[in-house]
Amino acid sequence: MNDGVIKDGGYDVKLVNEAPAEVDVFCVVCTLVLRDPVQLQCCTRHLCDSCYQKCAKEASSCPVCGTVPTQAFPDGAWARIVKNLKVYCINKQRGCYWENELRLLQDHVDVCSCDMIACPRNCGFSMERRNKEFHLSSICRLRPFKCEHCSAGGTYEAIMQVHFKECAEYPLDCPNNCTTDTIKRKNLKAHILETCPLEMVKCQFSEVGCSFICQRKDMAKHLDDCMQQHLMMTMETVRHLKLRVQSLEEK
Ligand SMILES: [Zn+2]
Ligand SMILES: [Zn+2]
Ligand SMILES: [Zn+2]
Ligand SMILES: [Zn+2]
Ligand SMILES: [Zn+2]
Ligand SMILES: [Zn+2]
Ligand SMILES: [Zn+2]
Repeated sequence: MNDGVIKDGGYDVKLVNEAPAEVDVFCVVCTLVLRDPVQLQCCTRHLCDSCYQKCAKEASSCPVCGTVPTQAFPDGAWARIVKNLKVYCINKQRGCYWENELRLLQDHVDVCSCDMIACPRNCGFSMERRNKEFHLSSICRLRPFKCEHCSAGGTYEAIMQVHFKECAEYPLDCPNNCTTDTIKRKNLKAHILETCPLEMVKCQFSEVGCSFICQRKDMAKHLDDCMQQHLMMTMETVRHLKLRVQSLEEK
């Protein structure tokens, strides 16, 4: 998890008081406050252990005075001096007022309300620790969530992106916009096939040759208007059928 303080190189912290002039507080390589200081044998300067290891890998000469070969030794007394320096919290700019000795910094950062932490549900979101509860309850895409239309439960993301596309109780608009009311998904098909006044429908007499198509609400008028024609078409069909039956019987 996030430990708040970068592990490579020195401590990226601001000192509360000015650095004492007589001691190396800052690493000569990374210029940050010394972490696990080692002392160079050649010129007695200090640098972070990790910075020294990095330099030693690249060149055998001292990064400060150039002596070849160079050697360095851990300096525990120096480490204590540096760790007793007063520093501000690394989250000062986000509003944390904490200031104390460097050796106490990590314990503070672990609980600092301004520290950035990753969502414990691994949603990919980071937030200040003080906003964690709000994130988990109201923002996190992986928070538990219930469909408001039926009793289905899941994560917010699953309900919104998957369940809402198939929930039988989900309210939809009529594709013909026949009403400002919504229609439950499970009723929409029947609505369009059986009742929607704006759905285009074929005349019931299409079977006997009427090709008229109109919105359902206008069909009654067509049936009224064309009663005569429908009757003629029906008669014509009956006549054909009769002839058909006769010819079949003759075979
Ligand atoms: Zn360093
Ligand atoms: Zn040197
Ligand atoms: Zn803090
Ligand atoms: Zn989250
Ligand atoms: Zn649902
Ligand atoms: Zn409709
Ligand atoms: Zn018709």
